[in-house]
Amino acid sequence: MTTPVIGVLALQGDVREHLAALEGAGAQARQVRRPEELAGVDGLVIPGGESTTISKLAVAFGLMEPLRARVAAGLPVYGSCAGMIMLADKILDPRSGQETVGGIDMIVRRNAFGRQNESFEAAVEMIGVEGGAVEGVFIRAPWVESTGARVEVLAEVDGHPVAVRQDGLLATSFHPELTGDHRVHRLFTAMVRDALVAGTGA
Ligand code: GLN
Repeated sequence: MTTPVIGVLALQGDVREHLAALEGAGAQARQVRRPEELAGVDGLVIPGGESTTISKLAVAFGLMEPLRARVAAGLPVYGSCAGMIMLADKILDPRSGQETVGGIDMIVRRNAFGRQNESFEAAVEMIGVEGGAVEGVFIRAPWVESTGARVEVLAEVDGHPVAVRQDGLLATSFHPELTGDHRVHRLFTAMVRDALVAGTGA
């Protein structure tokens, strides 16, 4: 079986945890900070962190347009939390200067779970992840407000989608990289492998 090379966008956020989770899931993981590094990966993770900061740094590092181009060309990308926000075609309440890479036909509400629930954990049953619920760690987490026809909702909490997929793009409101459970990263690694075999991730 091929070992896909999966980058982690390393501008801000919990980069190290995603690198470790990807290695645990059988991928070869590397940091991506420059367009040349982006060009060398078969898939990409956009980590949790602060989406406005990641957005501004992506523009400053000259990565925003290359990211959009590769997503449009079919690069598989997984975004957790702030990364989910980065993959949304639209955010409800962007901060000034905040842009997204886009790619998933959805509207996302930042910090949606509210003040008293800024951080919480919930058992999340997720389509495509076998072996029981994953431990969902939610930290000032977004939820998905609405989705287009091509978006598959994989999991919900309190009636709000918290995991979605559109073709090779995967996003979760929560942070599986913080739990030591690599099943979500294994699902994404399998998606990257499928794209490699099909030749759709170029
Ligand atoms: N609330 C953060 C944002 O808007 C996301 C938080 C997270 O990634 N843990 O980017």
